[in-house]
Amino acid sequence: MIRQPETDYDVIVAGGGAGGVGAALGAAREGAKVLLIEKYGFLGGAATTSNVLAYCGFFQQGPEPVKAVGGVADLVLDEMRALGVSADPFRSPTTHNWIILLEPETVKLALDNVLRKNGVDVLLHTRVAAVTRTADRLHALTLAGMEGRWRVEAENYVDATGDANLALIAGIPSRIGNEDGRLQAASGPIRVGGRNPNVPIDRKAIIAAFEDYNKTGDWPTARTDGGIYTEIPMTGEMWWMIFDHPMADLSSASFTRAEQASRAAAHDYINVLRKSVPGFENAYLVQTGPQIGIRESRHPQARYELTGEDLLTGRRRADGVAYAAWPIEDHSVAGKPVYRSVGGDGIADIPLDSLRAKGVDNLCYAGRVIGADSAAYASIRVMGTAFATGEAAGRFSASGANGLKNLWK
Ligand SMILES: Cc1cc2nc3c(=O)[nH]c(=O)nc-3n(C[C@H](O)[C@H](O)[C@H](O)COP(=O)(O)OP(=O)(O)OC[C@H]3O[C@@H](n4cnc5c(N)ncnc54)[C@H](O)[C@@H]3O)c2cc1C
Repeated sequence: MIRQPETDYDVIVAGGGAGGVGAALGAAREGAKVLLIEKYGFLGGAATTSNVLAYCGFFQQGPEPVKAVGGVADLVLDEMRALGVSADPFRSPTTHNWIILLEPETVKLALDNVLRKNGVDVLLHTRVAAVTRTADRLHALTLAGMEGRWRVEAENYVDATGDANLALIAGIPSRIGNEDGRLQAASGPIRVGGRNPNVPIDRKAIIAAFEDYNKTGDWPTARTDGGIYTEIPMTGEMWWMIFDHPMADLSSASFTRAEQASRAAAHDYINVLRKSVPGFENAYLVQTGPQIGIRESRHPQARYELTGEDLLTGRRRADGVAYAAWPIEDHSVAGKPVYRSVGGDGIADIPLDSLRAKGVDNLCYAGRVIGADSAAYASIRVMGTAFATGEAAGRFSASGANGLKNLWK
């Protein structure tokens, strides 16, 4: 049964991506009454809004898939398995990292199911519009939804909006992009249908076709290596990340240009495949995603900013509440990602203070909103890690720091 939402909660989570779902489940499993709000009509965040169809960060790097994230994320994976997706570790032939391949419709339903089973109230088509706060606390949120605006209250709040929208309207100072104000490129991964499954994908042919296209085409790609591609489970479709768009700022005008460019490029690129790459003669564009993939936006002030150094040295700490295991994956130069591995034993602790807003006692961050410098951000933003920081933020919001430790030790 789907419950009617109320107006008073223990914990309200803004944003229904991996971070928000992790937070809502974490809080609910501590016994809290939880509301999760999401501006789209479905959950999943970048996985379902932007065709980001692989969970990264669940495993350490190395020849075997050693887990770095468990807890409530496992409930999500189990729910996906119940719907027919393997959710097993898969070693990317391009990066050699361990990932979990996703099929977006399964992700949406699995997340609906797991939140319902854990008693979380969910409101879709609803966004945070305003907050009421005093110096060190948030008191209420004004939500905007289909029926207009209304007010909800909670003891504690979690900003899992990816873009730190709750922190923004709460007036918490933030850094945009890296320490020089430079944003990582946005990308529009696409789903390609109609490929002949009997013809192996020929990377050399893709590279040659784009060498040619880049000379005269309207949307030359900086990914001259053919991009990253995999097969989407249960569909026979190819998932393909080939187009990156540098972002000058966070204005709506810049995002409009990025959306329009990535859409136009996607149509061109399908034509390139059809014309020049064996096996793609009947290829077609299945979907560009409801929106372009935003790698980076703003970073609100946290009580601790995780550093690249913490990750490169594999720093362990007593106040760790989640593990970062994904390599630092820097996309500051569009189309030319640079990877640096997590040091030490291949994992670094993320401390509770990275999840806590500076100056506001009852606001936590989850997912890619958490406190991190630009190097650490390029690791912790992945969805596996987002589930883990979400779970910790949710459990802390429900029950405080007592007994809270890294949930996957
Ligand atoms: C092109 C690209 C490729 C990537 N590749 C991978 C990959 O292969 N694997 C991986 O694990 N990660 C990858 N990432 C990173 C990853 O997708 C994100 O960093 C991750 O999704 C962060 O999770 P999140 O829950 O913090 O935020 P998001 O997934 O962004 O979710 C935030 C949610 O909040 C909602 N929201 C926003 N504002 C409001 C509001 N005001 N009110 C209500 N709801 C709101 C949004 O609609 C969204 O659903 C990639 C990112 C990009 C852009």
